[in-house]
Amino acid sequence: MTTDDRAKLIDPTTEVWLAEHGLPGFTVAETIDAGGNRQFWIVDRDQLGGRDVDHGNESPAHEQTGFLSERWHDRIAAAPFRCCRPRRDGRPCRILVRSADSACAYHRRQQKAGVDGRSPKS
Ligand SMILES: [Zn+2]
Repeated sequence: MTTDDRAKLIDPTTEVWLAEHGLPGFTVAETIDAGGNRQFWIVDRDQLGGRDVDHGNESPAHEQTGFLSERWHDRIAAAPFRCCRPRRDGRPCRILVRSADSACAYHRRQQKAGVDGRSPKS
């Protein structure tokens, strides 16, 4: 943590809750410093405003430029493929598929029928 971290403000218009992605109580949001510089943070809402808040590693390995480490290659390789076609609510379809760029059964049917491919809000 740097002393500047305490002077950053969270821009509430950029805040997105992460509960549906497995992190209940957390959000991701842009912060703004006194110079107007913006930076994304993952925010534990229960810790917000606390005196001894851990601001974490300011330079995590996965945010550096250059090649990813073996650890991150392994994590990405182990991640499941998802359909990711847009749903009616604008979010990506989360149904697991066999390979990248594959569509789930619903979106395959929609594509065959020439429909826009948006699944119902679920
Ligand atoms: Zn789908």
